[in-house]
Amino acid sequence: MSVTFDYTGKSVLVTGAGSGMGRDSATAFAGAGARVAVLDIDAAAGRTTVEQIEASGGEAIFVEVDVADDAAVHRAVDTVVDRFGRLDVAHNNAGAEGQHGFMLEQDPASWRRTLDVNLSSVFYCMQAEIPHMLASGGGSIINTASAAGLIGAYGLTPYVAAKHGVIGLTKAAANEYSEQGIRINALCPGPIETPFISSFPSSWTDRLLSAVPIRRLGRTDEISQAVLWLGSEASSYVVGHSLSVDGGVTIGGAETR
Ligand code: NAD
Repeated sequence: MSVTFDYTGKSVLVTGAGSGMGRDSATAFAGAGARVAVLDIDAAAGRTTVEQIEASGGEAIFVEVDVADDAAVHRAVDTVVDRFGRLDVAHNNAGAEGQHGFMLEQDPASWRRTLDVNLSSVFYCMQAEIPHMLASGGGSIINTASAAGLIGAYGLTPYVAAKHGVIGLTKAAANEYSEQGIRINALCPGPIETPFISSFPSSWTDRLLSAVPIRRLGRTDEISQAVLWLGSEASSYVVGHSLSVDGGVTIGGAETR
């Protein structure tokens, strides 16, 4: 089942839209009538998303960007606004889990890159997006955090720290800009079936599932429905919230069942 949203006339950007949840989110926004900017570091993957959207009659452009690069993010967001004339919704979704291993096995370079890609990137994106939204009277920003932004996860220290940071950053920014019509919220997916999760060893996924009350991985469309809701007027009084769409993993206790 899917709820219908109307994004006709809206301009939307999605980072990390070349794969997984970002691709599904971009496709869903386009299916709801938005003009969509697909931002990704992987040009081939991003262009494939654009082709898929165009093949179903939607409107999309691709903009290549490394979200960990402050100046590149500003150029990319400005390109979107040059092409579409405005920015109504931004889904800051790009992320990567970084190096696996306990803290003492992590090197400082990997710590910095994981923080850059998952946390600083969201700061850079919002700094680039908010002035355009202020200029047009408001907007909605959805920052992808994770269940790992609410609880811990073994062997992913930098990622867990970064995603907890995304939630704090979302609250701080929401406090500053909601009065001017910009709603900023975080989305906290549980384990969702994407190439990201396939990169984990299967023993890891089995252990992970034992902690998920619903006992299955989530689907990308279960995330994009929540993203479209947060981006729309249907969530007009939702500000600085961290929305869990996680099969119950953050409730805790499923592994003792
Ligand atoms: P994915 O690996 O399928 O897609 C991630 C996309 O981001 C890719 O297209 C990749 O090229 C792009 N990307 C990576 N680094 C980038 C960079 N520096 N600049 C621009 N683009 C970049 O991942 P996914 O599972 O769809 O994850 C999307 C988001 O959801 C991520 O932030 C991830 O941390 C988060 N998340 C994923 C899960 C899960 O179980 N899959 C759970 C919780 C949160």
